[in-house]
Amino acid sequence: MNAEIIAVGSELLLGQIANTNGKFLSKQLAEIGINVYFHTVVGDNSDRLQSVIEIAESRADFIIFTGGLGPTKDDLTKETIARHLGKNLVFDNHALTAIQAYFTKTGREMTENNKKQALILEHADVLANDHGMAPGMILTLKDKTYMLLPGPPKELEPMFLTYGYKRLMEKLDKQERIESKVLRFFGIGESLLETKIDDLLENQTNPTIAPLAGDGEVTLRITAKHESKEICDQLIGETEAEIMNRVGDFYYGSDQTSLIKELVKELTARGMSIAAAESLTGGMFQEQLTTIPGAGKVFKGGIVSYTNDAKSNLLQIRDETISAYGVISEQCAIEMAENIRTQLDADVGISFTGVAGPDEQEDQPVGTVFIGIAFRKGHSKVKKLNLSGSRAQIRIRSVKYGCHYLLN
Ligand code: ATP
Ligand code: MG
Repeated sequence: MNAEIIAVGSELLLGQIANTNGKFLSKQLAEIGINVYFHTVVGDNSDRLQSVIEIAESRADFIIFTGGLGPTKDDLTKETIARHLGKNLVFDNHALTAIQAYFTKTGREMTENNKKQALILEHADVLANDHGMAPGMILTLKDKTYMLLPGPPKELEPMFLTYGYKRLMEKLDKQERIESKVLRFFGIGESLLETKIDDLLENQTNPTIAPLAGDGEVTLRITAKHESKEICDQLIGETEAEIMNRVGDFYYGSDQTSLIKELVKELTARGMSIAAAESLTGGMFQEQLTTIPGAGKVFKGGIVSYTNDAKSNLLQIRDETISAYGVISEQCAIEMAENIRTQLDADVGISFTGVAGPDEQEDQPVGTVFIGIAFRKGHSKVKKLNLSGSRAQIRIRSVKYGCHYLLN
């Protein structure tokens, strides 16, 4: 099955907004292995919309429209599609009641054009709009499937995730299953990882392997298509085993996870507590840790010690350490980790000190980062990183490397 996304809206063509709906939907469809071959953007003009529908029908099985389901004159997506397909527009009672209720509740008068939002293509299935008034819809006619979604991302995204996605999977189920698994890697660059699995990427057909890189992480999405789920799983399993053979050292988790989630999981499993002392990351490690439910079982607390004074006063970093080695140093990182660990009586202490930029510090180049790790039992250790990228990237990557070292 291949798809085309048609975004309707003159504001897109005028450069007033970006087509984030196209991006969102493409990503969702890629996740379930539907190939998106084309993105089309067209203004609020019925004739031009009609002509792009014809083109889309000539090259796609599945066409998703976004925008133009609202009450105003320029919202003409449904009307144009109805005319094109020779279908009537009929009122969806559920949507009509919801719109009427909204106007009663807010004490406003419902105008005729608001009623128009409850119109759907006859024989289409409704996709409820839990965040707005205009319902979405899906209709299969001959061998083409049309999905109409509202323009506002706040309405479109939950509608697709809650209803659209499921309806799509049901349609796919009738033909073939699509199963996929995402493998997550850290500590290896995208190009090196790809080189190591070059032949697999070259020869992929079923399953397919899609690499994606961002924020220092690389993910590989393996997608298999077959009528039987067992065969899909088997195809994925074989490819996964071969990938792990080559780059398994950098693997940290699959599907919906993150380094910080894996860290909380691991500490919980081991019954270990953690404390943190942060300089360049300004509390980001602790902030991320506390977004994970269950962090309270493992995270004791920490200190943001940004200036040298804060390092000596709050963390008791020795003056001799600072004067002899500076704060961007192995010695300082270790002391920070050890001191926070003992102060809070945690099983492990972690510290971050380094140069986020834009200027160098203590004659150390931007991107120099030391991560100290101290254990209640065993030796302390320290890692030196030479990161590249912007200030924001250096800080985020430092946090991720911290998790990575703790996990390995
Ligand atoms: P409404 O009921 O709000 O009028 P609608 O379904 O008629 O919704 P449009 O009128 O086309 O949709 O767009 C409404 C708003 O949704 C736009 O002003 C814009 O903010 C946002 N929007 C529309 N299309 C896109 C798109 N492709 N990507 C991102 N945002 C979009
Ligand atoms: Mg509109």
